[in-house]
Amino acid sequence: MKTFAAKSSLLLCGLLLFAAPRLQAAQDDATPHAARWWKGNLHTHSLWSDGDDYPEMIVDWYKQHGYQFLALSDHNILLQGDKWIEATNNRGGVVALEKYLRRFGTNWVQLGEAKGKQRVRLKTLSEFRRLFEEPGRFLLIQNEEITDRFRSKPVHVNATNLRDLIEPQGGNSVLEVIQNEVNAVFEQHRRTGQPMFPHLNHPNFGWAVTAEDFMQVKGSGSSKSITVTRLSITRATPPTPVPTASGTSCRRCA
Ligand SMILES: [Zn+2]
Repeated sequence: MKTFAAKSSLLLCGLLLFAAPRLQAAQDDATPHAARWWKGNLHTHSLWSDGDDYPEMIVDWYKQHGYQFLALSDHNILLQGDKWIEATNNRGGVVALEKYLRRFGTNWVQLGEAKGKQRVRLKTLSEFRRLFEEPGRFLLIQNEEITDRFRSKPVHVNATNLRDLIEPQGGNSVLEVIQNEVNAVFEQHRRTGQPMFPHLNHPNFGWAVTAEDFMQVKGSGSSKSITVTRLSITRATPPTPVPTASGTSCRRCA
């Protein structure tokens, strides 16, 4: 039996490929439970932070383009609660709103007005995931890009499949900021029992993170459900039996 190989370009914005357990076995085994590769994106921004489109539009694009999983990783926020934005004065502008209305219709899109300005309510992950998720075909994963810095250097750590929001932890060096964020993810995992893992995004953004910093980051020391050693996944358990994926541009990233 082959060992689980989980490889992904966790240091970069953009497309990630996950290897499922027993990859080699999957190539020779067409049973429903055979391991296989899933295509997705764990680093994606929407109008919930500095993206330029509505979350449903982004998810729709990824699903229609053959991805199997997507995580919307907005900056220091989860897609929860009541959030209204100005309808046209945002990164997507009139064009994004018109496309959103054409695709999902006025029965889905929530428009309102406050102080003389038209507003749109952003849908939460729990509201729109039922439109897209399909067992064995497409999965959405809750995510947050913990967006921090040390002095002028940006430090962004994704927390994939977290349950509760994690505030930026700060620190007295780039390494300490990374470590504090990583520790916060592991602490939440231990507290909740939910599978989740941290990964450092775009270390070259702002030339913030050196290889020496990176080499000193400590993993959780646990191998039961998640082990991240120096931010390279050596073992991971998917949040559900079915993978998921998607993404869009990152304005705060390079
Ligand atoms: Zn970032």
